[in-house]
Amino acid sequence: MSRKYPKKVRKEYQRKLAAAEAFVESWTTSGLAWNLASDHGCTLSCADADTFAGLFRSFGYSNTAEQILADHSDDCDTPHYHQQGVWTFTIKAEGPNVEKDDDGDWPMWTVVAGGENGADAEDQAVRWIRSKLKQRYAGYFWTSVLEVESGTPSELALYSWTDIRKAA
Ligand SMILES: [Zn+2]
Repeated sequence: MSRKYPKKVRKEYQRKLAAAEAFVESWTTSGLAWNLASDHGCTLSCADADTFAGLFRSFGYSNTAEQILADHSDDCDTPHYHQQGVWTFTIKAEGPNVEKDDDGDWPMWTVVAGGENGADAEDQAVRWIRSKLKQRYAGYFWTSVLEVESGTPSELALYSWTDIRKAA
């Protein structure tokens, strides 16, 4: 660790790292890391699963990490969160000042985004929509992601879409 950190901080980090290492070793040896969530029917959130798997992966237990994510994927509603790649998001906006379209529906956007993982890509897509809405409408509004699809829409798609990967 860099010497620019005061000794007290370095000591704290060393202590935390040693504790994490001891945790990983103990949970790997007992098999708890592999079995706990599935045996007890635990439902990990996407972030729980990612951080749990990440801890074991960073100590070299990639099989354990994969198993944790595989167990989580059985219940995961947003599998794109855990994968790197490109996704197409359909996002709807609603709010007191948001204009509905000609059919009386809330406006929707189709946005293509990519990132370190799908959670990051979704975050970028939603932020992009929100910045557009802020320019257009006063007051509050909310957005919801209606659909997530892997890849970009086909060239023949009848709707228009925005690829924010180029804008970024
Ligand atoms: Zn998930």
